[in-house]
Amino acid sequence: MKFFLNSLGILLIASMILVSCNERQTNEKTKVWAWFSGSLTSTQTDSASDEQLEYYFAKAKETGIDAIILEVHGGYPKVDSTDTVDFTDYEAIDIINKTLPYAKKYGIELHVWLWTTNRCEKNLRTAHPDWYQVNAEGNSCLNIKLYNREHYRWLCPARPEALEYLKHRVAELAKIDGIAGVHLDFIRYPDAILPYGLHESRGVVQDKVYPLWDHCYCDFCRANFKSQTGIDPMTLENPTENAEWMQYRWDAITKLTNALAQEIHRYGKVATAAVFASPSESRKLVRQDWTKFVELDVIFPMIYHKFYNAEDAWIETATREGVDEMKVNQCNGYLCSGLFAGHVPVDKIDEMIAYATNGGSTGICFFSLEGINKTPNYWEKLKESIIKYKKK
Ligand SMILES: [Zn+2]
Repeated sequence: MKFFLNSLGILLIASMILVSCNERQTNEKTKVWAWFSGSLTSTQTDSASDEQLEYYFAKAKETGIDAIILEVHGGYPKVDSTDTVDFTDYEAIDIINKTLPYAKKYGIELHVWLWTTNRCEKNLRTAHPDWYQVNAEGNSCLNIKLYNREHYRWLCPARPEALEYLKHRVAELAKIDGIAGVHLDFIRYPDAILPYGLHESRGVVQDKVYPLWDHCYCDFCRANFKSQTGIDPMTLENPTENAEWMQYRWDAITKLTNALAQEIHRYGKVATAAVFASPSESRKLVRQDWTKFVELDVIFPMIYHKFYNAEDAWIETATREGVDEMKVNQCNGYLCSGLFAGHVPVDKIDEMIAYATNGGSTGICFFSLEGINKTPNYWEKLKESIIKYKKK
């Protein structure tokens, strides 16, 4: 009898676990995520006030959003420390601690979003200028303002010191109780070519890769690549045509990403990243071979289609390309398509979600809560679409 009861108990527990796993999988399938930059004032560096956090979390809950990816380290760190010994991102930790009660109150998962290879904190730039990327003209990205953007300062992903630094930054956030995961953004090289729809507004001609925008030719990478192949990449006439040199750079980002994902997992947290729209465009434009980011739990391609001069249906094409390649490369995680609210008119939300779903997206993500907020009727229409989406 005792044996029977024990077996029954085990059976019950096993079936409960099974049910909760199934439920979880079902929930993931139609999970709705949203990016929230939290920089709500004109200075770009101020984080949201308590009133704003209350407003956005309440709105998100009401609309059916399950997870918020909150930017805690961006291009313009609020506290630009001169301390070149302690690099702890206290500002990010403060933002998280301030936001967590709202996530708890509304039962919304909180993922912390940080900029990864694009790091412009002044203390790091002062202490370790040699860790930063160098272009094919031999200039460090610390000495030129790429695309006239002050924040375009990029760590070399191949440098072991850069990985160690980023592991520390990731760990100090991942270990905070109550957060669900860490989200890696700007985990790539600077744009060798900008997405095509941005060329005119940024005033660039990029019919091919030009040396000004082609990175990383730092001393470390040049020596490293030379020891592997016998070639100094600086001497290549057309570096983009050299398969090994392209592969070297793709691999550098891939290794860095997978190592950071493992670091996030050490704290029992979900590891995710935002990547460029499709695998082929990502490799070409920013040397990001993201379908090899096998250690990540969720990969969010930012399918902001109008920046690529693409039709709406390209959301489906790009999603499918990513899903198929991730399968071939045996990624552990899944793909969740990211849509840009500015490219998704209120009367087309269902249609755009359907493109992503048909392409194989698991869940859907929107950029951004602020973008949704500024368009009249967006919250209401999005809520209707989410209700329909979750019923499917
Ligand atoms: Zn380098």
